[in-house]
Amino acid sequence: MDHKPFESMLVSEEPLSQVEKQLLQEHIESCASCRQLSISWGEVNNFFEIQPLAKPLAGFTSRWQARLIVFNARELEIREKRASWVFFASTAAAALVVFLIMVVQFLNSFQTPLQVFITGAAMFAGLVNLASAAQVAFIPIVELVVVRVPSVWWFAIAGSACILILALTFSVRRILYPRRVSL
Ligand SMILES: [Zn+2]
Repeated sequence: MDHKPFESMLVSEEPLSQVEKQLLQEHIESCASCRQLSISWGEVNNFFEIQPLAKPLAGFTSRWQARLIVFNARELEIREKRASWVFFASTAAAALVVFLIMVVQFLNSFQTPLQVFITGAAMFAGLVNLASAAQVAFIPIVELVVVRVPSVWWFAIAGSACILILALTFSVRRILYPRRVSL
């Protein structure tokens, strides 16, 4: 038996004529192979009616946009954090340079090598103390702060650090300056 015309009738997108429908029906009733094809084809069509192809789920666009917004915010945050780190680092570097210049000037204001040595030793001891104190107290705070603090605060902290270093340098100089006279 030739199944071809019935198979093409089964899967045809074109509507069948009354005669074709009749012929197909008769063939399906007598032919197991085409009956199976008819059932399978019906299942395939049902599947695509239930799940329309490539149609995104409801709310897909809004979810995607929400994700995009979150992604952009994160990107911006990373960029801001990087920018504030650059600012922080450059301010700290500037403060350090100013501090070193102050130290050099401070040491130059002494006249004898002994004075330079004594002051240098005192300053070194002070710096060692400061460093160990910073290690104990400051680093956990920094670790906490790096994670939590918004970028605006970094500007304030960096600015404050710079001012603080300058203020400390000036006050140290003021406190120690009279010694030059007494020594
Ligand atoms: Zn057949």
